Amino acid sequence: YQRSGNNKYEYLKSFEVEDKLMQSTWVVVRLDGRCFHKFSDKHEFEKPNDERALNLMNACAKAVLEEFPDIIFAYGVSDEYSFVFKKTTMLYNRRSSDIISTTVAFFTLCYNMKWKEFFPDKDLKSTPSFDARTVCYPSTKIVRDYLAWRQVDCHINNQYNTCFWMLVKSGKNKSEAQDEIKSSRSQDKYEILLKQFNMNYNELPAIFRKGSCVEETAKCNDNGQPVERLTSKVVIDHPDIIGDEFWVDHRHILKG
Ligand code: ATP
Ligand code: ATP
Ligand code: MG
Ligand code: MG
Ligand code: MG
Ligand code: MG
Ligand code: MG
Repeated sequence: YQRSGNNKYEYLKSFEVEDKLMQSTWVVVRLDGRCFHKFSDKHEFEKPNDERALNLMNACAKAVLEEFPDIIFAYGVSDEYSFVFKKTTMLYNRRSSDIISTTVAFFTLCYNMKWKEFFPDKDLKSTPSFDARTVCYPSTKIVRDYLAWRQVDCHINNQYNTCFWMLVKSGKNKSEAQDEIKSSRSQDKYEILLKQFNMNYNELPAIFRKGSCVEETAKCNDNGQPVERLTSKVVIDHPDIIGDEFWVDHRHILKG
């Protein structure tokens, strides 16, 4: 048959929907583990935070950044990761379905292949997989708000989960623990941890409190212009990305 040009099958192309993402916007792919509540139970993740599972997620995200050079930044917490593509990316001509499917497939495969590296003592009992979507954000302010939103979510969930699991580990059953903290404010939870468990929430590891950022390091000159791209490498860290400080020091990431 003819591979292209008019033939009797050509009309089938017209059933495909256009899903090209808006130009000049930052494309974010957010993926999330499917049924990881169950998956983490089945594989006996430590609660509330299994550090090896987080390190596995981070290693997969790092591999994604190394594979897709147009991704300039990634932020991850729990079973989710957000990948920010540069504003000018023309990857797959900005077709959403191709960008989503290749990113999430690559990440999923890494997660499965690297499992034994992080859990040498545990066999995979089911096949972990992830869903994903794309969202376009049109300004640096909005991209920053997006990332801040995910980090605020990390904080709220982690503080709740830390409190919940401390109560459970101290002998309460799950519904008692839930009742005790269901209408508590952030400050109340901080005090429960401090007074009942002598635990200072602010001293917990940053990877739990702040989530993880993945970026390509680039040495910057005084104008914030990256130099020495060739010597750059992908690094993982757990900074605050809500305030201005990180973004002042890392101006090259959202430069446009
Ligand atoms: P869905 O398929 O709708 O995303 P889900 O079960 O994955 O359902 P999420 O809201 O994504 O629900 O929550 C992920 C859950 O996975 C957490 O609530 C937690 O129980 C578990 N989990 C993920 N990562 C870890 C980790 N590093 N340590 C402990 N538990 C984890
Ligand atoms: P794209 O990333 O755009 O999909 P591509 O190189 O994968 O680019 P396709 O049009 O998908 O291009 O074509 C797949 C190519 O892979 C085929 O042209 C062929 O060369 C090769 N290929 C795939 N399956 C086989 C196979 N079973 N045996 C030999 N070659 C294969
Ligand atoms: Mg989901
Ligand atoms: Mg999930
Ligand atoms: Mg999730
Ligand atoms: Mg193709
Ligand atoms: Mg192909």
